[in-house]
Amino acid sequence: MSSVSEPLAHQIIDAIRSVIGSDKAALHEPRFKGNEWQYVKDCLDSTFVSTVGKYVGLFEHELASYTGAKHAVAVANGTAALHIALELAGVSEGDEVLVPALTFIATANAVSYCGAIPHFVDSVHDTLGMAVGPLRDYLQHISEQSNGHCINKSTGKVIRAMVPMHTFGHMADLDGLLAIARDFNIALIEDAAESLGSTYQGKHSGTFGMMGTLSFNGNKTITTGGGGAILTNDSEIAQRAKHLTTTAKVPHRWAFIHDEVGYNYRMPNLNAALGCAQLEQLPVFLASKRQLYASYAKAFEGMTGVSLMKEPTGSHSNYWLQTIMLSKPDVEVRDAVLQATNDSGIMTRPSWTLMHRLKPYQACPRAPLPVSEDLEQQIINIPSSAFLV
Ligand SMILES: *Cc1c(COP(=O)(O)O)cnc(C)c1O
Repeated sequence: MSSVSEPLAHQIIDAIRSVIGSDKAALHEPRFKGNEWQYVKDCLDSTFVSTVGKYVGLFEHELASYTGAKHAVAVANGTAALHIALELAGVSEGDEVLVPALTFIATANAVSYCGAIPHFVDSVHDTLGMAVGPLRDYLQHISEQSNGHCINKSTGKVIRAMVPMHTFGHMADLDGLLAIARDFNIALIEDAAESLGSTYQGKHSGTFGMMGTLSFNGNKTITTGGGGAILTNDSEIAQRAKHLTTTAKVPHRWAFIHDEVGYNYRMPNLNAALGCAQLEQLPVFLASKRQLYASYAKAFEGMTGVSLMKEPTGSHSNYWLQTIMLSKPDVEVRDAVLQATNDSGIMTRPSWTLMHRLKPYQACPRAPLPVSEDLEQQIINIPSSAFLV
């Protein structure tokens, strides 16, 4: 370890230990101390563990009522939710879709599943989400309108959709992004996989665009084991989403009629049973994660070289993953901190490798990405589970 980063790494370890009152901690662990055992047992007892049963409908109803979306459609995972949302937004072969370079690969993969091409754009420091000003300037420069479509002048492709992602639970600047979507005729779909429970100007994440998508993977704020959902206020889209994710089967007592190529993307009843219990716990998880933020904020206050990521003004974060940010981008310092913390039993992680550096996405179009490239060398996620304090 370099002489510069060693004292910093130890200060960080001491600060984390002082908050969690323990030597070791995972990055994010689920917790099953509510009705999880009861609902899962009830589901097993019913024998309806798979494609039929009451919990899927119940989970969808409760998700909609919690988020304020008119409809929620539960699916197999967050990536499947994104895939279907993009397909329902009309994304198809050869289209381009604006995606932040700073995201988990699922956002870009879902675009690829539609035969479309991710077009990577930059993020900003204060939200870790898509940068509004630079995106507007960029689109003014590279696109033109034709028959109500936004055309990339250099590739000739339609820029059909944009997928802002709410990084680590912090809301992107939706006012600015929705205005761009409207002005340039681009559909907006929120990748809200990380932000269940976060709000922007009092409204829940996932309810702003044409659709929003959630993930209930084991490391997310609530989990169904594996799972996801599509949120929408449009009844027709909700119906289409349900149909497409359940093999496009026409309801009938015995006949197998499928009226298009659908997907087996449904959420099994067993997973939804777990989800119902987890959703009941969400308010206490959120309160606990907010308390953890407050404790970390005290512990990191005044420390030179790093700062703790705070929720953007005008929004309320779920604080899914707590983030310390190196004051200066420096991959050596970052890696030294990652090494020392993980060696000592404190699990930490860097940001994702930016999408345009990954082998499948190196040839994709992209805007200048100066902020994402800095953030990649600044972000360190630290233990974030509910009930660490
Ligand atoms: C977790 C996640 C997803 C979806 O992941 P699944 O594992 O498929 O549920 C999508 N986008 C982002 C940004 C995520 O963090």
